[in-house]
Amino acid sequence: MSDVIVTGGGPAGMFAAVAAAERGHKVLLLEKNEKLGKKLYITGKGRCNLTNACGPDDLRANVMTNAKFLYSAFSACDNHRVIDFFEKNGMKTKVERGGRVFPVSDHSSDVISVLQKKLRLSGVAVRYGTRVESLLVQSAQERRVTGVKLTDRETLYADAVILATGGFSYQTTGATGDGYRIAREAGHTVTDIHPSLVPFCAVEDYVGRMQGLSLKNVRVRVKDGRKVLYDESGEMLFTHFGVSGPLVLSASAAIRPALTQKKLSMEIDLKPALSDEQLSRRLLREFGEAGKKQFKNALNSLFPVKMIPVVTELSGIPPERRVNEITKAERLDFVRLIKAFPVTLNGLRGFDEAIVTRGGVCVKEVNPSTMESKIVKNLYFCGELLDADAMTGGYNLQIAWSTGYLAGISVR
Ligand SMILES: Cc1cc2nc3c(=O)[nH]c(=O)nc-3n(C[C@H](O)[C@H](O)[C@H](O)COP(=O)(O)OP(=O)(O)OC[C@H]3O[C@@H](n4cnc5c(N)ncnc54)[C@H](O)[C@@H]3O)c2cc1C
Repeated sequence: MSDVIVTGGGPAGMFAAVAAAERGHKVLLLEKNEKLGKKLYITGKGRCNLTNACGPDDLRANVMTNAKFLYSAFSACDNHRVIDFFEKNGMKTKVERGGRVFPVSDHSSDVISVLQKKLRLSGVAVRYGTRVESLLVQSAQERRVTGVKLTDRETLYADAVILATGGFSYQTTGATGDGYRIAREAGHTVTDIHPSLVPFCAVEDYVGRMQGLSLKNVRVRVKDGRKVLYDESGEMLFTHFGVSGPLVLSASAAIRPALTQKKLSMEIDLKPALSDEQLSRRLLREFGEAGKKQFKNALNSLFPVKMIPVVTELSGIPPERRVNEITKAERLDFVRLIKAFPVTLNGLRGFDEAIVTRGGVCVKEVNPSTMESKIVKNLYFCGELLDADAMTGGYNLQIAWSTGYLAGISVR
């Protein structure tokens, strides 16, 4: 049996460590923080959306980058296996909207407790406050990893090393991108990294005036010129700098990084359940009933309060105009505004607000059946460090569990 060093005590590293230890290897888990799973703790707003209860096709369909590469990892440890793992270890789970799986307790700390218990029971030794600086690579006939060098210059030898250092987002959790440099120095290609599942900045100052306003049941279309890049319905949020919320985060993941750096137009359909015709009839009826009311005072049934001054301004209709004096042309323009409320997007927010990092260790240089490096023998990669990312809904943690597990069971 081998001496295995796992670098990084996030979900991928912990799963890898347990899987390797349960196969009889002697495992040492190195974590630079003073505790394990610092990012895991803040997932799902502290509730941890640990996976998704969907079928296998949807699991792959929700992976945005390198879904094919994950095929074997998902087969080795799919979402149902993850749910079973936590249930069997005493943590009840529940399924919420969109198949999102959470601990029944709504506490991410329960997920971490289960993992800590399994690490203990399977005999994994954990060293905290221990930061890996580089890999020891022997390059006689073939390149082979022989251990790690720590930042305090201490050298630890091992038969195999699993790198699970995470990505580059929310750096205060420990994900400072060390693994990219370490992998590069070992001869690996690391693709360009970009923030993903991240809010967008907006040009118009009226967006900031609506900060804090959350819109449910709207449809969002993002366009590059006339080309539609994203078109989905759901929930979004205005912030002081632009737009956020589930629809916007998903848009950031669905649109190619190069395009997100351009100015894009976003149209919000504020009444997606109504056709232009139906909306026009509704306005006609409501304006008729409101009679002599001023335009600015007749919009309460149509929009949230914070939006009314902005919509009034953009409509071009004088706010004091009596609604029964609004012309047909004005009404039709107003319908167009409601069905395509305009926001100009001018780039993504940064890594400190990104749920996940897009890009990482190039998967062409990693064996998909084992997670072993094709360049350095006995070196394995897992989790967000790899160039693989997914939509919200528990899919990114599923990537961490699956690749971590596969790396752990593949160690020779
Ligand atoms: C706010 C937020 C909410 C999220 N919510 C969800 C959610 O609900 N569901 C979901 O599926 N995904 C969610 N994610 C994404 C998910 O958390 C990540 O994809 C996942 O944590 C990646 O796991 P990992 O083990 O690869 O990396 P990490 O969790 O980042 O763990 C890497 C570990 O390696 C350690 N490390 C780094 N460098 C070194 C080094 N040189 N030496 C030693 N240790 C090192 C770090 O300290 C860290 O503990 C969320 C992310 C964020 C930021």
